[in-house]
Amino acid sequence: MKVVVIGCTHAGTAAIVNVKQLYSDAEVTVYERNNNISFLSCGIALNVSGVVPDAQSLFYSSPQALADLGVNTKMEHDVLSVDIKNKTVTVKDLNSGAEFDDTYDKLIVTLGSWPIVPKFEGGDLGNITLSKNYYHSQEIIEKAKDATNVVVIGAGYIGVELAEAFEMLGKNTVLIDAEPRIMNKYLDKAYTDVAEKAFSDRGVKLALGEKVVRFEGEDGNVAKVVTDKGEHQADLVVLCIGFAPNTGLLKGQLDMLPNGAIVIDEYMQTSEPDVFAAGDCCVVSYNPTSEKRYVPLATNAVRMGTLVARNLVKPTLKYLGTQSTSGIKIYEHNIAATGLTEEGANRIEGLDVASVTITENDRPEFMPTYEAATITLVYDKTTRRVLGGQIVSDKDLTQYMNTLSVVIQNEMTVEELAMVDFFFQPHFNKPWSLLNAVALAALDK
Ligand SMILES: Cc1cc2nc3c(=O)[nH]c(=O)nc-3n(C[C@H](O)[C@H](O)[C@H](O)COP(=O)(O)OP(=O)(O)OC[C@H]3O[C@@H](n4cnc5c(N)ncnc54)[C@H](O)[C@@H]3O)c2cc1C
Repeated sequence: MKVVVIGCTHAGTAAIVNVKQLYSDAEVTVYERNNNISFLSCGIALNVSGVVPDAQSLFYSSPQALADLGVNTKMEHDVLSVDIKNKTVTVKDLNSGAEFDDTYDKLIVTLGSWPIVPKFEGGDLGNITLSKNYYHSQEIIEKAKDATNVVVIGAGYIGVELAEAFEMLGKNTVLIDAEPRIMNKYLDKAYTDVAEKAFSDRGVKLALGEKVVRFEGEDGNVAKVVTDKGEHQADLVVLCIGFAPNTGLLKGQLDMLPNGAIVIDEYMQTSEPDVFAAGDCCVVSYNPTSEKRYVPLATNAVRMGTLVARNLVKPTLKYLGTQSTSGIKIYEHNIAATGLTEEGANRIEGLDVASVTITENDRPEFMPTYEAATITLVYDKTTRRVLGGQIVSDKDLTQYMNTLSVVIQNEMTVEELAMVDFFFQPHFNKPWSLLNAVALAALDK
């Protein structure tokens, strides 16, 4: 079996390692345009702030490790086109410039995503960077050395983490977003208020409800970000506006959503039988609303990559979908979320949701220490099905959201969650676990 893999970060690496484990005789070739694989972008902000000083520690595999598995590892090779009907790919060796064709029995598409870059006037000035891969992280670190004023555009998880990192480096930091709240897609207001206060207390300027209009420069480099409400001095700008599937290569050959995300079934098969896809280039099944959504997360990418290998020859193991479970640490605040926020759910036509929020200490007050936690449950008023949740505490209680993710996936109700069995031991919790407690609070609502 001849397998060609295009793209090798998380989904690609997972697919390759598992294919070689399951089918040691398979002839696997991977084409990757970068000279590295498996870079954990989630560590970029930690590397920028110096919390993780060694960028090399953010790789968990290497081209050599794949070569050692017997994989034909073609780094710095760009796949220029794919002909699905004839099962061929056309590839350019980025070092020699040579172009050649290759053939496959099975094609694994792990092309990932690329940052959305709106066309702003002055967008081609120097010191305006992206934050996606290893090269970007090195560029940000290098340029931040001489920067006094840093502007981060986009207050999703990535922008927020970078704003914290720049503030920790002592930069004058501005975080701009067109929305009125940071991280508004992932968290309800009670949670973003906590994070926003942490930023404001440290002097990070939150320019919310502001739309970037243009950049102005000096000597070819950015000097100012102009918005519809004002302007911000900038020696360095990082664009964190969001991601789009990087699937132009296959347009018209595979079924896709309007945004370009490849449609796959629960076995990771595309609309073509011998073409499989995984990771940020694909749609996923979003369980809280039973719809296909674009949720570009490393968690989804590694699961889907692994499943590609398991289903490559015959449908064997299904993908269970996602609750888009996520976590973030903003200074001392540990925040996690799963499923729908109340605000997000209210935007969905036909859904009638309610939410309940409680603040409780994590363990009995007779213990030498305890920490307050705020936890929210979002649920369907009619079916009583749990649809989402969020937690914040200065103690790391984020794992509760992983448990809640299972609750949502298994379509449990508020009543079931209130009475489900969780252990009690004073070192760790109270007789009613925080998840029981928040569901109990929702019982009579
Ligand atoms: C700053 C940052 C922080 C993040 N933090 C988190 C986090 O904390 N938790 C989390 O779950 N997720 C996080 N994510 C998201 C996560 O990194 C992505 O979901 C993940 O990288 C997706 O992996 P992938 O392999 O599908 O795609 P990608 O990582 O996009 O990789 C695709 C690969 O394909 C290659 N490629 C593309 N086109 C071609 C071509 N034509 N020829 C050859 N090669 C090609 C690219 O060079 C790339 O290596 C973060 C992302 C960023 C940018």
